[in-house]
Amino acid sequence: MRLIKDLFVKKNSITVNIEAINGLHLRPCAKIASLAKEFPFDINFIFNNQSANAKNMNEILSLGLEYGNEITIITKGKNAKDALNEIKTLLDELSTHDSKISSSDEELLNNENQIISYDGEIKAGVSICGGVCVANIHFMNSELCGNEKMEFSNALLKSLDELEILSNDNENREKDIFLAQKAMLDNLPNSSYEIFNKAIIDSIKMLENTANQSKIADYKDIEKRVFDKMNGILIKDLPSYDFILISNELLPSEIKNISTSGIKGVIVQNISPRSHVALLLRSYNIPSITVDDISKLINIDNEIILDASSGLVAINPSRNDMDIANSRINKANMKSKSDASDRFETATTKSGKIIKILANITDYDSAVEAKESGCEGIGLLRTEFLFQTTKPTLDKQLYEYSRIFELFDEVTVRTLDVGGDKKLPYLIIPDEENPFLGVRGIRLFETHLDLMKEQLLAILLAKQSGEVKIMFPMVATVDEFVNAKNIAVDIATKNDISLDGISFGIMIEVPSVLFLIEEFNKVVDFYSIGTNDLSQYLFAIDRTHASLKIDSYSSVLFDAIKLIRKQSTKPVSICGELASDIKVIKTLVDIGIETLSVTPAMIPTIKARIRDV
Ligand code: PEP
Ligand code: MG
Repeated sequence: MRLIKDLFVKKNSITVNIEAINGLHLRPCAKIASLAKEFPFDINFIFNNQSANAKNMNEILSLGLEYGNEITIITKGKNAKDALNEIKTLLDELSTHDSKISSSDEELLNNENQIISYDGEIKAGVSICGGVCVANIHFMNSELCGNEKMEFSNALLKSLDELEILSNDNENREKDIFLAQKAMLDNLPNSSYEIFNKAIIDSIKMLENTANQSKIADYKDIEKRVFDKMNGILIKDLPSYDFILISNELLPSEIKNISTSGIKGVIVQNISPRSHVALLLRSYNIPSITVDDISKLINIDNEIILDASSGLVAINPSRNDMDIANSRINKANMKSKSDASDRFETATTKSGKIIKILANITDYDSAVEAKESGCEGIGLLRTEFLFQTTKPTLDKQLYEYSRIFELFDEVTVRTLDVGGDKKLPYLIIPDEENPFLGVRGIRLFETHLDLMKEQLLAILLAKQSGEVKIMFPMVATVDEFVNAKNIAVDIATKNDISLDGISFGIMIEVPSVLFLIEEFNKVVDFYSIGTNDLSQYLFAIDRTHASLKIDSYSSVLFDAIKLIRKQSTKPVSICGELASDIKVIKTLVDIGIETLSVTPAMIPTIKARIRDV
């Protein structure tokens, strides 16, 4: 009788896209089956010509449904439409809850957060850059060591004095080098920093590919010695032996210098993991944590363990603690060696998807490091870190961009992103109540048009055979982008520069863009998601805030990325710190992100992680 009745009942169907980034795994399948059982008629999921009874969890599971798959749900019965709608609603809900992080990333996250227990007294903090190291401490009090910035003339005199002392030091095996550098410095024109700097650039150019090429390093050293003083970097006397730096404050401009000392790790008071200091520490791969109070740590004269992966300092480690730390260090070294051996290979997932790995850089040295680490191009050149002391001349900019561009087939160069926590002494922005909400990034086209025009001209002139992608930061509206792009096109036309191989795009950092993607699709060539600022603006928490923390793994951020990915018709990459976080790589790949721009030091590790997905 039922069979006959069924013949006359109309079939209903609905097509649904699987939006859960982890696909339909055990828990969602169980929930769907239990809902389907509430209806007195058959409900079937059809996928790839295969049918599964929706009341049977195992049958749904056997369809192996993944993110992006399209399924048809078929039923027939009296309230069939209601059933279909309820199941669709449940699927949508499950996707929303599932969007946080994929299961294997979650496993990694849990492993990373494993509590390692040490016998000795512990000081806990928050991890900035993972890693473990053992060394004595070196305390640096920023107030005492003074970050006073010098005028060029004083910086020059001080540098000459230093070189004089170094060249007279009989203990110093390199005294002859310093003597030669002093003579070189003495002979350089020095009526202004610009003239001095141009002379150095010209000398370096003349020495390239000659028998005296080795002198280039001396010119660079001289420039750095003077530059550091102008920039208030007076902490160069850090020990050359192994040490863990304890400091009450660090500045972005100090990190490069620190990295060339015997530094093994950093413990710094109260910085935000998303501040620029933090991201530079990560870019130099220096194990680092931030603690609320360093006073307990400054007078220790034994070796300590900095377990930055666990966010801990073992103040007076036992023999057993030392064994634990050393075995973790050895393991990490072995893993990084094996990752490094494959660093020039493409990063291909197990299912054959190729993920392009680009690098985030700040200058020529980091560009070289990125190339050596296996990147396939530059996804973010943070130009504001290139010229920190004085306004660079057009020539100087041209020189710096050219030598970076010539290393790669593809470079994304970001126009000056000053403002917020990044300041330049020659770019005056009147005091603001909320600098992160004030003049920053593309808004400099409103306030410092000539400077921005000069930068665009330098970038356009520096382009060589490779592709140059000009990227504007802090874009909130379509008009801002169109205006900045028109200025660039105008400059190219006026200077007879071809726009072949030049493209224009935006960073997605301001939430308004999430609602304007369809409009942006009509004008931009590409997008790069700046998750550092996007998180800051989504949650309205200052990224440098010492105590208010943003949840890096919040589903809100992943939903935003999914939305961008879904709505964009142009290539999308991620260049924020999230892309360098191995704990979310699978999730990002599952969402459909195909290009990641990461910190150079992380390239081999990220590639290895992708191969495991
Ligand atoms: C970002 O905001 O994610 C980003 C990459 O830019 P920056 O960190 O330089 O502000
Ligand atoms: Mg940003």
